[in-house]
Amino acid sequence: MPQTQQEHPIPAAGTYSPAYGSALEPVAATPVDEVAQVVLNARQAQGAWAALPLKERVAAVKAFARRVLERHEEIVAIISSETGKSATEVLVNEVSGINEYAAIAAKEAAEALKPTRVAMSMVAYPGKRAVVEMVPRGVVGIIAPWNYPLSIFFKPLFPALLSGNAVVLKPSEYTPRTGAWLAEQCAATLPAGLVQVVQGAGEVGAALLESGIDAVVFTGSVATGKKIAARAGELLIACSIELGGKDAAIVLQDCNMERTVVGIGQWAFHNCGQNCAAIERVYVEDAIADEFVARLGRLADKLRVAPEAEFCELGPLQNHLQRDIVEAHVKDALAKGATLVAGGERAQSGLGYRPTVLDHCTHAMEVVTEETFGPVIAVVRVKDADEAVRLANDAKYGLNGSVWTRNLRRGEQLARRLEVGIALVNNHAITGALANVPWTGVKDTGTGIAASRFSYPTYVRPRTIFVDRNTKADPWWFPANADLHELGKTLIAFSLGNLGAAFKLAKIASRRVKAIEVLARNNEA
Ligand code: NAD
Repeated sequence: MPQTQQEHPIPAAGTYSPAYGSALEPVAATPVDEVAQVVLNARQAQGAWAALPLKERVAAVKAFARRVLERHEEIVAIISSETGKSATEVLVNEVSGINEYAAIAAKEAAEALKPTRVAMSMVAYPGKRAVVEMVPRGVVGIIAPWNYPLSIFFKPLFPALLSGNAVVLKPSEYTPRTGAWLAEQCAATLPAGLVQVVQGAGEVGAALLESGIDAVVFTGSVATGKKIAARAGELLIACSIELGGKDAAIVLQDCNMERTVVGIGQWAFHNCGQNCAAIERVYVEDAIADEFVARLGRLADKLRVAPEAEFCELGPLQNHLQRDIVEAHVKDALAKGATLVAGGERAQSGLGYRPTVLDHCTHAMEVVTEETFGPVIAVVRVKDADEAVRLANDAKYGLNGSVWTRNLRRGEQLARRLEVGIALVNNHAITGALANVPWTGVKDTGTGIAASRFSYPTYVRPRTIFVDRNTKADPWWFPANADLHELGKTLIAFSLGNLGAAFKLAKIASRRVKAIEVLARNNEA
């Protein structure tokens, strides 16, 4: 932990404004021994919901999204008070897109939930048909972090509900009011009891896991995510785990300098850097490094930290622990030879921290290897693109990665070499707003898939319905005899392309069916 001047005692999680330090009304935690009943209540509402046609579920989910937009001022104020973000930032990044997101999520649901007719060989499976249907798992628990307290809920909430599940939300103890408000809007637009909320810290999340849920969607830290994945494995429940990041951007000498600087500033500093897909490392080619760093520093100096003015580019850090981590990483980098280009200090009030640019960073520094989750860019100078790719991949996380260049073809080739879930050219993390793109990563970022039809295995299981209208026995049933052996051999010949074997197969099959009928009659006797 860093040597910083610390206000003591630190108030309990979620009870103070990160921007002003003023007290917020506490929210009561759900007693751990009541969590199982909450899950049961959700389960009671689930059967009727799952029985509705998809069209009706879509209509209800869209009504919920509309209601959020119609009451956007309420939720903007709540998120702003809990996180310290400016109203503008909340409005644009968390609220304004929900309607469109729901509409696209509904289209993805229609694709993901389509039944699939099973293709079967008429020769080997005569008289049979089968279909694979997608069945909701039951009750999905969604455990969320504090950094995007609304959107990290609605992203899994839509596919969970659209596929016919009930849901129990577990907001972060730092942002309990957003979760409570969300559950109220669900109650107003969806069947009673279908979406429930439990409040509290880690012990309530742990209790939720033990309370009979059928799937868990977790977004949060690596330490907690690993615990949840291990327990979900023991409980044999479906589990999607979305964890941390340490995203890299590679800046090539042929980049569009002006757009690249502001683009990297945007994706590093928005939400005060508290974004799993924030750009935290920049690998810049030596040839343009001086100019790039100077411009990035000037940009950082111009950005305002809430609550300096009505329109601020950055909110504060959300909590004291987070500020401790940021300060420790900056201190470690400076001690190991990084140079401070901008920021590196607390802002004037609350938990604000000035947007920071550190130059001459190396992989010996925490600010390059550990998730900072704050408004800090570590610049590493490289000789060429190959070195940049090698260093970008030398990371324990892999969520987004981007290449900034005017040569789009080369950019795409380099992007494909990044060990990440989402690789971009001249942008970063933008697909997080798209309901039809899988949000996923590699390594310690976790195996979870948020959004899109590719996320559905968490919410549904495949169930096969098989119907046999054959009145005769299948030719490979008992008894075992020489004809059965011959049947096997002939099937192999047929599979190897001997089409003439089909005629022989039919003859053997008919002898086999008769033999089975003899066995069946003997059984009757
Ligand atoms: P956290 O792991 O401390 O908490 C996340 C949630 O888990 C909270 O609701 C918390 O109460 C709950 N929890 C804590 N211990 C638990 C336990 N033992 N069992 C069940 N639940 C438990 O994470 P955080 O500090 O709230 O969030 C920040 C982290 O989230 C960062 O690492 C960030 O990168 C990550 N994140 C990842 C994504 C992504 O999509 N990959 C998105 C946003 C945030």
